[in-house]
Amino acid sequence: MKIEGCRDKFRTYLASRNLRLTNQRMAIFDAAFAESSHFTAEELLDKARRLDASVSRATIYRTLPLLTESSLLREVDIGKNIKYYLANPGDQPQQAQVICLDCEHIFEISAPFMDWYGVTVATKLGLTPVSQRLQVSAHCDVFRRSGQCPHHTAAGKPA
Ligand SMILES: [Zn+2]
Repeated sequence: MKIEGCRDKFRTYLASRNLRLTNQRMAIFDAAFAESSHFTAEELLDKARRLDASVSRATIYRTLPLLTESSLLREVDIGKNIKYYLANPGDQPQQAQVICLDCEHIFEISAPFMDWYGVTVATKLGLTPVSQRLQVSAHCDVFRRSGQCPHHTAAGKPA
């Protein structure tokens, strides 16, 4: 789905909840969809404020659930206190995550076999699968050798 389609989906979802697509919500949406990798709520706040200085932290925390409930963002829980988010244009197959334990970089890996696997094992048990996830935690071999994680950019933030 193109970004315009996603924006329409967000507008429609908000309307179904009697909410409007305000300038602040639009800035949050645009900041989230400008990101190709994972981000935290605080990172999203910084980026949304660059688009609209009136975006508040409270607005971010009220808007994130709307974006995840409408499936426009995926929430990625890597078992830490902090939550990560990723824009979800909607047409990707099942994704799995591989997490670098040395720099906490999260790789999104296409994992179409997961749908098949989830359906197969659930059906054998007489169950209908609702969701499933696969996460692999891994150490970085280059980091072990050189002390530097290649997933890091010069700024010290995962690429
Ligand atoms: Zn790393």
